Amino acid sequence: MPRKLAAGNWKMNGLRASLEELKTLEKRHDDASVDILICPPATLISACKDMLFDIGGQDCHSATSGAHTGDISADMLADAGASHVLTGHSERRTDHGEDDATIAAKSLAAYAADLTAVICIGETLEERENGSTLAVIDTQLAGSVPDAATAQNTVIAYEPVWAIGTGKVPTLDQIGEVHAHIRQRLTDRFSDGGAMRILYGGSVKGSNAADIFAVPDVDGALVGGASLKADDFSPIIAALEKA
Ligand code: PEP
Repeated sequence: MPRKLAAGNWKMNGLRASLEELKTLEKRHDDASVDILICPPATLISACKDMLFDIGGQDCHSATSGAHTGDISADMLADAGASHVLTGHSERRTDHGEDDATIAAKSLAAYAADLTAVICIGETLEERENGSTLAVIDTQLAGSVPDAATAQNTVIAYEPVWAIGTGKVPTLDQIGEVHAHIRQRLTDRFSDGGAMRILYGGSVKGSNAADIFAVPDVDGALVGGASLKADDFSPIIAALEKA
């Protein structure tokens, strides 16, 4: 089985001074038994590249280069020291109108640059309430995850949109239902789908991490707010190590 993964998404937060938090985290988890991935803003990737953690971008363009002002390619992320990139985060889907086809193209660009794509999927509150969660997950998995996905080049992050940054968390049964469903779809479609890591994301904290990590098919977490401070992220890593 692949190692569990604790991933931090710093979003548009973090200046060079914030690297002190990572140095603290590094000292506390220098022999971690789980993988640790930090996705800082792109401006900090090269400053993080020699750290013990894996480093990821938060987005990439689907093209390798060209006239796309303000964008960053997967090759550029790799060149700066990244090994991973988030694709399809709900804030990209919402703020930038990214659809499943765009996310699949970005994930393919990640593979071409030898980056692991952390492909994010998840339902909105409206979709949860009208009972279409699993149908939404199916559509997003089919449209966002390329046929070339493998357990090595892809991690799936299930992030209910309504749980991101809100302090609201699905019940453990709801998390379990969606993760089991994703696992089934992955094993149906990919020969190594049983080994593809599935992260839960959405208001994970030290106080709820152990319960979430005990849910079957939860292979780790994608953490936003609680990944910014070593004191907040460290208990989540510790809970994953014990899971
Ligand atoms: C995220 O940004 O992917 C996320 C899950 O955020 P938070 O942990 O703050 O809900």
